[in-house]
Amino acid sequence: MNCKGVILEVSNYLDGDLELSVRQELERHLEHCGECKMVVDQTRLTVNVFCDCKPIELPADVKSRLHDALRRKLKDNDQLG
Ligand SMILES: [Zn+2]
Repeated sequence: MNCKGVILEVSNYLDGDLELSVRQELERHLEHCGECKMVVDQTRLTVNVFCDCKPIELPADVKSRLHDALRRKLKDNDQLG
């Protein structure tokens, strides 16, 4: 799995919706990619802050800020090739 894959799957990962094999791949990537680990940690924090034991629905502004950050990251990765 590459950085793009991690970012695409991060919400499924945190929701526990990933198949075991995909989750393991993702976690292997996190072991050597601090950038993606940061994205996962940040997303997890954001989710936890707003979760409060209810179905997770992020406020729109948080969601769009997160999307912006992820889009920027995807773009950076594209530039890196
Ligand atoms: Zn990565």
